[in-house]
Amino acid sequence: MEENKLPDLLNGSATRKREDYLEWPEYFMAVAFLSAQRSKDPSSQVGACIVNQENKIVGIGYNGMPNGCDDDLLPWSRSADDRLNTKYPYVCHAELNAIMNKNSADVKGCTMYVALFPCNECAKLIIQAGLKEVVYLSDKYHDTPEMVASRKLLSMAGVQYRQFKPKRSEIVIDFNSINHRGNAGLCHQRGEQLNQADGERADSAAVSMNNS
Ligand SMILES: [Zn+2]
Repeated sequence: MEENKLPDLLNGSATRKREDYLEWPEYFMAVAFLSAQRSKDPSSQVGACIVNQENKIVGIGYNGMPNGCDDDLLPWSRSADDRLNTKYPYVCHAELNAIMNKNSADVKGCTMYVALFPCNECAKLIIQAGLKEVVYLSDKYHDTPEMVASRKLLSMAGVQYRQFKPKRSEIVIDFNSINHRGNAGLCHQRGEQLNQADGERADSAAVSMNNS
């Protein structure tokens, strides 16, 4: 006689929850990277996402010119004979915008996810806003005076900072996935994405979290 069949739950054939869902840190970092795609800066697109202690997003920002200031009239150059013809005196960093865009009364005790380690000016804002932690992905300007000063200020003020090491280098958002049964909408690898029909590729966007 056939041995008793175990319930599906025990023999492993039951439908289980997804295992490859985004964990909170990669979700928040991906939100920061996605918002960076709104930036009009041709040389640097940075996004920031502020999260409270309940894992709720309370502010998002990306680098851009101040509200009401025409970004077609202001310069986007990184260098010029006259500094006034570079972007630097005008552009608002992602961290500033994320703090100013907050949808809560304040951001005290919150964590900021940001693509690039914050400069010293943003460190001042982060400290004064009462943020308790900064999670960054890239630290490519580590040795510049701005970053040295930033680390000094954050450390003195007791703001924690740590580098985020993504498990995957890229997250693909596939707008077609909602029409496919059982497709989670996120492909882990570029290869998976490229296996799709050509026509579908145009409906996808990749949020790359490469450290560059
Ligand atoms: Zn900054």
